[in-house]
Amino acid sequence: MPKDYVVGIDLGGTKSALALLDENNQIVARARIATEADEGPDNIIGRLLEEIETFKAGLAADVRLAAVGVCAPGPLDHEQGIMLSPTNMPRFHNTPLKTILEERLGVPARLEHDAKAAALGELYAGEGQGFNSLVYIVIGTGVGAAIILNGDLYRGEKNFAGEIGHATLDRYGEPCHCGSRGCFETFMSGPSLTKRYARLCPDVGQISGAAITERAKHGDEAALQIIHEAGEALGVMVATTAMMLDIERFIVGGSVAKAGDLLINSARTTIPKYSFKSFSSRISLVSTKLGEDAAILGAAHLARQALS
Ligand SMILES: [Zn+2]
Repeated sequence: MPKDYVVGIDLGGTKSALALLDENNQIVARARIATEADEGPDNIIGRLLEEIETFKAGLAADVRLAAVGVCAPGPLDHEQGIMLSPTNMPRFHNTPLKTILEERLGVPARLEHDAKAAALGELYAGEGQGFNSLVYIVIGTGVGAAIILNGDLYRGEKNFAGEIGHATLDRYGEPCHCGSRGCFETFMSGPSLTKRYARLCPDVGQISGAAITERAKHGDEAALQIIHEAGEALGVMVATTAMMLDIERFIVGGSVAKAGDLLINSARTTIPKYSFKSFSSRISLVSTKLGEDAAILGAAHLARQALS
């Protein structure tokens, strides 16, 4: 029997990453390419296939590529494996990625939402190991979450579970691009940090979330205040979710998570203020250690599942 290797792919709006995993789910090869989303799906699929062919060319005689798992921005239909209408990738609307890859590679393929794949990656190979349930929170350009309940992804009735970024923290708060007000996202996302900083420091103007994090680490008071407020919002979000679902493990990923302890510590001190002691004493909130690999590992895990 040949050994079954699988490929995990994280198809992003600007860049895509692939990894080849051996039969023990260890990464043995990697590639990273620009997505060039404006060129449309055929272009990136062709280049992903070239990278996969390079992986295959390096395989030993007793190894075969057995399956491929891809994660991509939503919304998508994970059952049919179709990208539906990813916001920043208009040319990818209604792309049947699963079918295309299966036809071109002759192996089973799976497609999953990127945050959900990352949650699975954390569950099997990261900060979620040893837990049955967890919430993976992504804080970047937007804010979203993926929920794992009793070992399985919780999707909700129409696959929308986890849109916590647009739950309301302050009903009199700032208008949000979703049409509501005071959403968690208006306190935490990269663009929200930029807006808040520009308001506090009009002389500096609009700087990126990453630049604000960097300034906070160097003691800039306005930057520290904004990260602190983002952490408080995160703490309320975690406390509320924990009270609702009785989940103990919360993992934060995404670009804003790079603020690290500044963000997480502020959230940790906030959680007990907004939840029962019996909950808050059991809640653990951590930053991802897998980083961008979480989504690739989750996608590879789904590829592996396709074989059983
Ligand atoms: Zn909103």
